[in-house]
Amino acid sequence: MPNTDARRTRRDFLQKTGAALGGLALSGTALPASARGARRRPRAMSSHAKPLGVALVGLGNYATNQLAPALLETEQCRLTGIVTGTPSKIDRWRSEYDIPEKNVYNYETFDQIADNPDIHVVYVVLPNSMHAEYAIRAAEAGKHVITEKPMATSVRDCERMIEACEKAGVKLSVGYRLHFEPHHQEIMRLGREQVYGRVTVIEASFSFTSRNTEAWRFSKEMAGGGALLDVGVYAIQGARYTIGEEPVRVRATGYNTRPDVFTEIYETILWDMEFPGGAVSTHSTSYSANVNRLYMMAPRGWARIEPAFMYNSVAGRTNEGPMDFPEVTQQALQMDDFARCIAADETSRVSGEEGLRDMKVIEAIYRSIDRGGRWVEV
Ligand code: NDP
Repeated sequence: MPNTDARRTRRDFLQKTGAALGGLALSGTALPASARGARRRPRAMSSHAKPLGVALVGLGNYATNQLAPALLETEQCRLTGIVTGTPSKIDRWRSEYDIPEKNVYNYETFDQIADNPDIHVVYVVLPNSMHAEYAIRAAEAGKHVITEKPMATSVRDCERMIEACEKAGVKLSVGYRLHFEPHHQEIMRLGREQVYGRVTVIEASFSFTSRNTEAWRFSKEMAGGGALLDVGVYAIQGARYTIGEEPVRVRATGYNTRPDVFTEIYETILWDMEFPGGAVSTHSTSYSANVNRLYMMAPRGWARIEPAFMYNSVAGRTNEGPMDFPEVTQQALQMDDFARCIAADETSRVSGEEGLRDMKVIEAIYRSIDRGGRWVEV
């Protein structure tokens, strides 16, 4: 855990910037009227209410090493439940996070979470293809939902998740932690407010060298694709939130230099996007390279974040000099903001609609690859 001074620095930063940043959300929409009056609507939290209880579903790497520790730093949320298919994980989690036995579920007993008043938010941290099922079951249990990125593995599943949450009157959010990171918030401001003029070019890429060929990430069925859904989605996000527009068309090519290893997914994908205001963006993602950057170019200046998409050590500069921002615990800020949205009955800036928009781009990228790299409409 960070020390108190570090926490205070983060809180000070947030207090100063919070109002402005709220206004920078992408074109998020409020929950439709159909959500009102739906069954099992959890009660809004007042500013002095107890923190919301969060249950993590799937106790893998991200839940264990990032989300659970971040929940020790949140002010509006706390870890009250776990859902796991691996009984050997339970004792350690229960003792480390003081979780009562009645708040421990597996994938068969999951729906009983509906009767648990300690759990307000279900956070789905499962392999990508399982996000839709557990998000929908959580909504049907009357719980607010956060699902990890990518939101799902198809546009249709994203739509089903949004519909289920609307019907249940619960809020839906995607774990896009970088919307809460100050360098990224700054590049959103520079781009959308056209501080250096209208953005002309974005270059954003995220690749890492993966040696774990046994993992679900290499299964098309479980991952929905390869590096594009896993980390390429950050590059799509970066372009979209810096320009503040939705891409209208994309062209893409997929490569595989090791067909013995990458039997179901592309090893590398390169793609370009065109935006309605005239900006263009170019990207790559791969499981056989190491790149991690978001560059913004405009007529009177530029901004670069590199490394861009990490949990920490994010660094950036503009043509005016280094960006000077404190390091934050992105996931803690993300979850506290979701709790605030629940209390205020606001749509999260990282809503289900935001995840859906990325999935539409991802499907267009695969369509373009299938058509030999031709431009296709998003
Ligand atoms: P892991 O493989 O480490 O963990 C996934 C967990 O899901 C497993 O440990 C297991 O937990 C559970 N699970 C249930 N069924 C299966 C199955 N059939 N195969 C494999 N696991 C299963 O993955 P990660 O934690 O790295 O990723 C989980 C999700 O989080 C992904 O969607 C990923 O994209 C996202 N993620 C997001 C990040 C971010 O920065 N926002 C960073 C990393 C990941 P149990 O044993 O408890 O049942």
